[in-house]
Amino acid sequence: MRSWPDLYLPPITAHYPQLTLFSTYSKKLLPVNQEGPIDIYVCGITPYDSTHCGHAATYITFDLIHRYLKSAGATVNFIENITDIDDPLLERAARDNQDWHELAESQIDLFRSDMTALHVLPPTSYIGAIESMSEVFKQISVFQKANLTYEIAGDLYLSIAECPGALENLPLSLEESLRIFKERGGDPDRVGKKHPLDTLLWLKGRANEPAWESPFGPGRPGWHIECAAIAIKYASGNGKSTLTIQGGGSDLIFPHHYMSGVQGRTLVNREFAEIYSHTGMIGLDGEKMSKSKGNLVFVSKLLADGVDPVVIRIGLMQDRYRNDRMWSGAGLAEAEKKVMRIRSALSREEVAPTNPLIDEIIAALSNDLDTPKVFEIVERWCFDTESGQSGGSSGEIARAFDALLGLTF
Ligand code: ZN
Repeated sequence: MRSWPDLYLPPITAHYPQLTLFSTYSKKLLPVNQEGPIDIYVCGITPYDSTHCGHAATYITFDLIHRYLKSAGATVNFIENITDIDDPLLERAARDNQDWHELAESQIDLFRSDMTALHVLPPTSYIGAIESMSEVFKQISVFQKANLTYEIAGDLYLSIAECPGALENLPLSLEESLRIFKERGGDPDRVGKKHPLDTLLWLKGRANEPAWESPFGPGRPGWHIECAAIAIKYASGNGKSTLTIQGGGSDLIFPHHYMSGVQGRTLVNREFAEIYSHTGMIGLDGEKMSKSKGNLVFVSKLLADGVDPVVIRIGLMQDRYRNDRMWSGAGLAEAEKKVMRIRSALSREEVAPTNPLIDEIIAALSNDLDTPKVFEIVERWCFDTESGQSGGSSGEIARAFDALLGLTF
């Protein structure tokens, strides 16, 4: 799948401490292993309502990781998928009486232009589910050969109780797992299932729905196997695990990332990811942002209203990435104020020393992307510059803002 234009990353020579990130399932801060290529897999959009602020916050977070590691001299293999066939896409197309394929194409185009506007580095591999059918077939066949699958009315399931460690390591109680599994596309109550948490590998073609020919009959893949198959195919295969980092929004912690992790581990007999990293949800003015409430804030709408992309980026970076947080007029005004102040400082003939500032920004980022700390440090530098301190280079710090934070002023 075509991604979006690459960006020049100005080289910033400095000391880069090892990046540490909070890993969701182990609940620990873990160092990112930088030996050999770093494989990052971020779950992409289902293209029916891109790109709202929640999406943007997630991709900006993983962009900061991408930028940090590349600036530190690491080789990053960044994989992102697009779930270009799934129930929500078909449901939205049917609701709006639109061709599902056209809907997907238009939303993927919009996503590319939003990512370009927000200065998100493009992935190394940008992969659609439809173009990955042969990989999905290959991996489902591995499960079949190991006798881990069974059928209900032509739909193919994975027997989770037979996948090593799958039921023993659930991140939630079984009761809670079942509730969330059902809420997020699972079918725990289906008659004939061996275990309610068994996941769908292949859905037999339904009338009036798109279907692909496969060794299991015409149909379409389940969601979790898509990501497992794409990750296995496109990861460098260098590390102890298939992936160095598996990332996405916190709504993917269960079942999606847990189940694709179980599948990936069972398929290739090694850990799926060293670190599972998740971003908090973005609400609006004190309420949860959701499709059902109709209160999603779209990046394209903000841009059309004349909001500067650098303001949107700071608006989504000024709080900690892991926290659920709000998008609000006050937050936007705060981000605008920061941009004005930094622009004003950068335009002065003399600026406060910049070398220690760059080191402090890098140190804050290395500590689980502490962006609130980054802005605290930058505001202090603005104050020092406004107070007449000198000895820094505005060009040097502008390049560091660009390379490390994706901010151009
Ligand atoms: Zn995924």
